[in-house]
Formats: sequence, C-alpha cells, structure tokens
Amino acid sequence: MAGKGITQDLLKEEILRQEDMRELFSFYDALLTARRQILQDLPPVVPADEAGAGEFAKALNEERYAASVAGPKIDPDAFAGAFQKMAAVVAKKAPHLAKAARFYAQLDPSTLPPFDPAAMGSSGLVASPEAGPAPEEPARKPALSIPENPEDPEGRLFRQLYTNAVQPFFEKFALELAPVVEKADWHEAYCPVCGNRPAIAQTIGGGARDLYCTFCGTRRHYPRLACPHCENTDHEQLRYMEISEKPQYRIDVCEDCKGYVKVLVQSGDSESESFNPFVADILTLHLDALAQKHGYSPNPQHPAH
Ligand SMILES: [Zn+2]
Ligand SMILES: [Zn+2]
Repeated sequence: MAGKGITQDLLKEEILRQEDMRELFSFYDALLTARRQILQDLPPVVPADEAGAGEFAKALNEERYAASVAGPKIDPDAFAGAFQKMAAVVAKKAPHLAKAARFYAQLDPSTLPPFDPAAMGSSGLVASPEAGPAPEEPARKPALSIPENPEDPEGRLFRQLYTNAVQPFFEKFALELAPVVEKADWHEAYCPVCGNRPAIAQTIGGGARDLYCTFCGTRRHYPRLACPHCENTDHEQLRYMEISEKPQYRIDVCEDCKGYVKVLVQSGDSESESFNPFVADILTLHLDALAQKHGYSPNPQHPAH
C-alpha cells in the first residue's frame, strides 16, 4: 500500500486532530501559505549569464553547490514585500512574538539590509535545527543589522523573518535549477543548490533513500549506508531509532559524528506520492526533540571524512 502524501492538506488535518500542537501547526501553516504566495509571484531568479554558460552544471560536477556560483536574483521590492508578509504572519499567529514582530512589520522596508549570501545561516523558523554550512564553507555568521528592538534584543526573530523572506527566492532558484541538478552526478551530503545540510529523508519500498533540503526543497538520492553529515560508511556506526507510536517514521543516526536525519518510511512504490519536505519537517518536530534528547545533533560538528 502506498504511503500517504505529505502535503499542506495533511498539516491542516493534523491541526484539527492534535490539540496540543494546534497553535504551533497553524502558525507554520500560515507561514507556509505566505511563502507559497510569495513564490508564485516571483519572476525567474536564475541569473541568465551563469545558466547560459553552463556554470551551474560545471560547478555541480566539481562538487560545488549552485548558490556558491551565483545565488538567486533577489529583487529588493519583492524581498521587502516578503519580509513584511512574514512579519505580519508572526504578529498575527504567534502571540508571544507579536510585539517583536509588529516592530519589524512597521519598518520602512527600504531600510532592510540587502541580501548577503554570507549571512545565510539556518533554515529559520521552519527547520527547527540549525542547518549548518557545507563542510568546505567558512562558518556563516548573520551579519545583518536593523534590530535595536527591545522585544528582540539579540535579533533572533529578525534573522528568522529575514531567512523566511529569502526562502521563496531559493525555492524558486531550486525549481529552476532542478533539470541541471537531475543531470548532475552529485554525491555530496550537503544540498546541491543551497549548500545546507539535509534534515529529512524519505525511503521508498525499503530501497533508496532520498534526502530533502528543508530550505530550498531540493531532493536528491543518497546511499542508505552512508551518514548524510560526515559521509561515514561504517555500517556498525550507522543505526536508526524506531518510533514505536509512529512506525512510519524513524531517525537515522551516526555514532561517529552524532548526527541524525529524520526519515519517513514509505512502504509502497510511492515515488509519485506528494512529499512536501517543509510540511514533513514540521510534522516531525517531535522527532527532533527525541533525537536531541538522546544526544544527536541536526548539525554535528565533525569534519567530513
Ligand atoms: Zn537546499
Ligand atoms: Zn556521521
């Protein structure tokens, strides 16, 4: 039997079903809806020069991810609109952050710092774990300013809003580059488009494992018997945790680097089944808590082998 598609409709069903998660899930539902609307309105974002010259294909075959060649074109007005939309969602749906978010929603969007790829850090609000930089990259430090917001003294919310506002541009970038990525011979653990680490995977019919980027949404195949963080292939050190109350999920862990990735186990031939990695990430937040309680990290500090 084919597994159930992981879609935003499923998230809406879970909002009705899981009372204890209702507030959190409906917050994420609103956030995903806002991001999808922004995505739908974006013009093409892949820089024509690099695409035309085949620079992306070349980079991927040299184990460099696409955004390290050139990131998506980010129109300042579209970005300012996206940022305001994100701030409005948080102000409306997250009571404990509402005051801090309203401060940002009222900012003059033309004063926002321009997008700086070096400031990209985590997948923001949606990927609860910090998705780390690709192994060969220097640590990315948020170099954004603005805050001076007493409700958000460390600027954490600001960075999350900023990251979520930039996410649709990367998702669009990934969609446009998908044919190039499909053709590339990519074996690295990090995302071929944006360089982030994988947070979630899907296995189909007990066979291959697909890794998904929870920032740009890119899917790629990855060997089951290799750690998607440190590339360790010693199968004695690669284990998984089963979730007794949710047998459709497991957590693949590596004893070498202590990293983990959440896995949805599809029993049938579900290749065509919808799998929205952003929704899957949200629906499995409890697995992050479980893995981290057992000492595993979504972003292990361990050099690649
Ligand atoms: Zn990515
Ligand atoms: Zn590992």
